[in-house]
Amino acid sequence: MWVYVGAKHTAQAASEQTQLFRCGSCGYRAVARIVGRGQGTAHSPYFINQAEGRERARREASFAAKKNTRGALALAACPTCGWRDPDTVGRYRRHAIKTVVWLSLAAFGVAWVPLRAQTWAPALAAGAALLFALVVYRVLRREWTITAKGVVFESIPP
Ligand SMILES: [Zn+2]
Repeated sequence: MWVYVGAKHTAQAASEQTQLFRCGSCGYRAVARIVGRGQGTAHSPYFINQAEGRERARREASFAAKKNTRGALALAACPTCGWRDPDTVGRYRRHAIKTVVWLSLAAFGVAWVPLRAQTWAPALAAGAALLFALVVYRVLRREWTITAKGVVFESIPP
């Protein structure tokens, strides 16, 4: 039996940022306050350098929080008309499509093995891969369709 001897450090961090939001469709302007949250983990093997481990976990958490902050504002929808930056949405969509294509090719291969003796193997494997692709795409799509978490709009008085 193998036992890990050491300590595991976890840290949470929040990063807050305010930025001017201007809708590209209806022209709505607001101050957007974005709170990003991040988590970090680090290990100290044999309990050596525990302070350094804690510090590494903190740094990782703070880095993740800042990264989440940037992503949240880029994908935030206009609170008035629901507009989102098409460039950002396009980038997320292209990435999702690429992921789905590769995963469905893999799914086709996995479905092919037990079905290959059947006459309808290509159709069945393609059907399974297509179904899988649809499910994966629906999950990934949530990234740019659900309301960005942690973004609060404070309207500017005209
Ligand atoms: Zn708008």
